[in-house]
Amino acid sequence: MDYMESQKLICVDDLPSIEEYLRSFQESGNEDVREVEFRVKNIHGQWWWVKARGKVFKRNAGGKVTQIISIIQDWSQKKEAEEKKQENEFMQALLQKKDEFMSVASHELKTPITTIKASLQVLQRQVERQVDESILLVFIKRAILQINKLSTLIGDLMDNTKIQSGKLRLDISSCTMDEIIADSILHGFNLENIIIENTVTEPVEVDRIRIEQVLTNYISNAIKYSPGSDKILLRVNTEGDSVKVSVRDFGIGIAREKTPYVFDRFFRVNEASTQFSGLGLGLYISAEIINLHQGRYGVESEEGKGSTFWFSVPFKHQPTNESSM
Ligand code: ADP
Repeated sequence: MDYMESQKLICVDDLPSIEEYLRSFQESGNEDVREVEFRVKNIHGQWWWVKARGKVFKRNAGGKVTQIISIIQDWSQKKEAEEKKQENEFMQALLQKKDEFMSVASHELKTPITTIKASLQVLQRQVERQVDESILLVFIKRAILQINKLSTLIGDLMDNTKIQSGKLRLDISSCTMDEIIADSILHGFNLENIIIENTVTEPVEVDRIRIEQVLTNYISNAIKYSPGSDKILLRVNTEGDSVKVSVRDFGIGIAREKTPYVFDRFFRVNEASTQFSGLGLGLYISAEIINLHQGRYGVESEEGKGSTFWFSVPFKHQPTNESSM
């Protein structure tokens, strides 16, 4: 059977490697053994892995290879074992990633619970002793702060599940970025540290709660990753038919090679992950929210100097199949 005829029995995906195998003999010495694995059709019409091992058999007067000799072996069991091994390794890596995430998530959830429990125990003792109410307030505030942290963490975990199952939906209404900024800042940030440089009053069609969530995430990251500085600059601009919001901080910044990954799910900059708490979900969720608005997002950063996280959304919302009015 010639090569053209045999092509009908060879899996089309493997033809390039067979062609490479045949071509390679032109450059090989007479004693070199070349190998290739490919699928052929058996008499029942099923694909079946074989391995060919070949050597140069004849050359013409000019030294060009004219014939090769190949031994073909059944390779299906070896291939199956190899594929199973790869599948197992992939599953193991996946399980390890899941375990790592579970360990980070349980640590993140446990820390605030420990503080809340301690605050409530102190409160209980103080109430029993009927101490001054102003002391009680310190512990109540501490517990509320930690409950807010817990509720954000649980919210992020729930949003992640919604995104994975394609169930994150938008509730679009008309409002101004000013209103969203005001709501977001009222979230408990220290107003003195946030400088609003510019603003846009034109109404925008967005999911107000979700855009507030993105902004709150950018601002809380700007605070969290700026231990030595408390100044944050907030800027709102018009860019064509979109409104762009930028949050600039003067904190630890991000190394240039890491910036393309910060919006990826579970990505945390290694050097920062031990020092700062987090699940690596906030920016991923923010990116998904902006995508649903058919907007854009990004970051410019310099390690040691600070970062500017930004997003832009069109003034007029254009519904897609994924989002709903
Ligand atoms: P988290 O803060 O929970 O780890 P995010 O998804 O919000 O998760 O952020 C992903 C990673 O991006 C963070 O772990 C951090 O390493 C980096 N990052 C985010 N915002 C900033 C910032 N303003 N400055 C420096 N690094 C940042």
